[in-house]
Amino acid sequence: MSLKTRLSIQNTLAFRLTLWYAVIFSLSSGIAFLLFYTLVTSIVRDRTDQELLGQARRFSTILSNEGAEEVTKAMVIEAQAAGVRKVFFRLLYPNGQTFSSSNMAYWKDIPVNLNAIKQLLQGTSYVIETIVIPDRKQRVRILYALLSPGIAIQVGESMEGYSRFLDAFKVILIFTMGILLVVAAGVGWFMAKRAVSGVEAVTRTARKISANVLQERVPVKDTGDEIDLLAKTFNEMLDRIQSLVREVKEMSDNIAHDLKGPITRIRGAAEVTLTTSHSMGEYENMTASIIEECDRLLGMINTMLMISKTEAGVDKPSLEDVDISKLLMDTCELFLPVAEDKGISLSYDTPDAIHLNGDVRMIQRMLSNLLDNAIKYTPSGGKITVALAQNSSGTVLISVSDTGIGISPEELPHIFERFYRGDQSRSTSGIGLGLSLSMAIARAHGGDITATSISGRGSTFTITLPKTNPIVLEDGKLRG
Ligand code: ADP
Repeated sequence: MSLKTRLSIQNTLAFRLTLWYAVIFSLSSGIAFLLFYTLVTSIVRDRTDQELLGQARRFSTILSNEGAEEVTKAMVIEAQAAGVRKVFFRLLYPNGQTFSSSNMAYWKDIPVNLNAIKQLLQGTSYVIETIVIPDRKQRVRILYALLSPGIAIQVGESMEGYSRFLDAFKVILIFTMGILLVVAAGVGWFMAKRAVSGVEAVTRTARKISANVLQERVPVKDTGDEIDLLAKTFNEMLDRIQSLVREVKEMSDNIAHDLKGPITRIRGAAEVTLTTSHSMGEYENMTASIIEECDRLLGMINTMLMISKTEAGVDKPSLEDVDISKLLMDTCELFLPVAEDKGISLSYDTPDAIHLNGDVRMIQRMLSNLLDNAIKYTPSGGKITVALAQNSSGTVLISVSDTGIGISPEELPHIFERFYRGDQSRSTSGIGLGLSLSMAIARAHGGDITATSISGRGSTFTITLPKTNPIVLEDGKLRG
């Protein structure tokens, strides 16, 4: 089933992003258009009001200079000039009765607002109102002002022209908004699709991956954006999974290989004894060699279990104060006879009373592994030097150097892997687990082991251990 059919379009991130984009865009542009429309409307109304006030002032001047009759004449002329359906003028007595007016045939339904005249008499300089003529649904802006103490003027102007302008303006705004909305949704969809295309690539790769196909990688565009980071992180995760799967495979191959040898030998010995031997002594020899092989097998299985448990934090170090100077000296003394037997000089420099917090049994095992290797891989006449030091940051350093066969640069990165054995070491005894276990122990103590080596000239293994163990609380989490 394709990805597209699996996700219905409404569930896609691209659709939701587009929707959000369109909603936010239309809301903000709607608010902007509304503000603009309100502004234009108020400008139009202000202009009408200024016109009405201008008329009132002009008639007031004519009244005071030339008298009421001239005002009436001027009103008639003005109304005819502007259009009798556009403006009208009425002179009113303070009681609201009409004194004279322009042609009112078209405006006969317009009442006189007595309340407005009352306000004028109380001192208000002018009153403006908008009324709608019911039959015609026509809006009229009307101004009341006093021309003299006994005469008020009512000036009205039809807002029809402005209304038409505002209606057209409204239509244009709505139309433009509609177009913009469609464009915004299109742009939003395009941007969202582009943004999530990287996620789709990650999903596609993830779907192709199975235990056998781990080499697939998401294409990285090096744009440095979040999707790129996701792709890189995903690829890194795949690298780690791939190397883990490889390690597990190699390990199971190695286990199978290492178990096969002793079991074949056990079977062979039993078969040969059964078919050829008849004496008690031969049966005893066979039993002894089977016990030896079984011990070897058990040793290997126990070491594997110990590594796994230590790495998983199941076998936690039982922490106590360890006199590492003494422990190192004792371990070296233990190996001294073996080294001497092989004709190797073993010297150690262990300054007094360096203590650390650790598991004696585990640390001793780690030191033994390194010393055992040093002796194993150093030919007769060689030299092993063990040194102990502590630095000011509270770290203890133990180094084991030998003048042995050394490790080639190609092999060096692998020596801490489980079951790894160098080419030159295959002839010596060992199962390739000593260094893995040592590393697991060092890490369980919050420390590390590093190795440097020159092929044919010798190797140095350096253990670093913190004096106060930073690890292993009851819940298995690291302590700071
Ligand atoms: P083993 O010694 O049983 O083979 P280890 O895990 O102890 O397994 O070591 C892994 C490999 O590292 C060895 O097979 C060997 O090739 C290399 N190695 C470890 N210690 C030394 C050393 N001191 N000198 C040279 N090679 C070493």
